Amino acid sequence: MRSTRALVLIGALVVVVAGRLIGQQANLGYDDTPMQPNGRWHIHDGKRPQPTIVTPGAMSPAPAPQDAIVLVGSGADRSAWQMMDGAPVTWAMSNGVLETGKGIIRTRAEFTDYQLHVEFATPKDVKGDSQGRGNSGVFLNGKFEIQVLDSYQNPTYPDGQASAMYGQYPPLVNASRPPGEWQAYDIVFTSPRFGAGARLDKPAVVTVLHNGIVVHDARPFWGPTAHRKIEPYALDNARGPIGLQDHGNPVRYRNIWIRPLRGYDE
Ligand code: MG
Repeated sequence: MRSTRALVLIGALVVVVAGRLIGQQANLGYDDTPMQPNGRWHIHDGKRPQPTIVTPGAMSPAPAPQDAIVLVGSGADRSAWQMMDGAPVTWAMSNGVLETGKGIIRTRAEFTDYQLHVEFATPKDVKGDSQGRGNSGVFLNGKFEIQVLDSYQNPTYPDGQASAMYGQYPPLVNASRPPGEWQAYDIVFTSPRFGAGARLDKPAVVTVLHNGIVVHDARPFWGPTAHRKIEPYALDNARGPIGLQDHGNPVRYRNIWIRPLRGYDE
């Protein structure tokens, strides 16, 4: 009788511990979301392998080249940006550092194919975890998010960590620097192309270097990025602004510049 009770207790303990472990795994992501188009993983799949950590080399400054359009430079000029409704930007900016505020911001200008340099820093004082730590984002054409997150010793679903093509691909490796340190994205983006009848001829394609390390190599987007889903392509994805996300976490940006790309001999 006594041994039976002990067995039941041990059994209950095993169930509780196993449940906790499964719960922790599930908490990293989702398993009730649609499968991605290649059928390998759910969107935001918490069981997808965590990318290998690679410590980046020392940060080299990347001042804007002569032909670049400076979007965030030295000083406090925010004139390249607007709120989504066209109102002046309310995010604070001083000494060349722009800090996230309420609402997503976007560039006034729109672009098609481009090289984009962005520097960002998540807070030195770490608050929150997973998607709640240093979350912002860089929106290409206003629709395709390259995730900004504190992914230094902060596990989350891999397709939502820093430099992920959000909800689609994790970075090839995790090249994150510690919180508070400046980090860089160098992005090459080509817009989708559409043919007659809004037929998609060529998807959006992105190459991303995070702190000088390749994390996406000419990777096509399945469509505009979204939470728990992937949006279908639409004609208005063919060009758009650069957007910066407000996700309720303070994130700083500096030294943002863009070079529209042209073809050979153009
Ligand atoms: Mg984000």
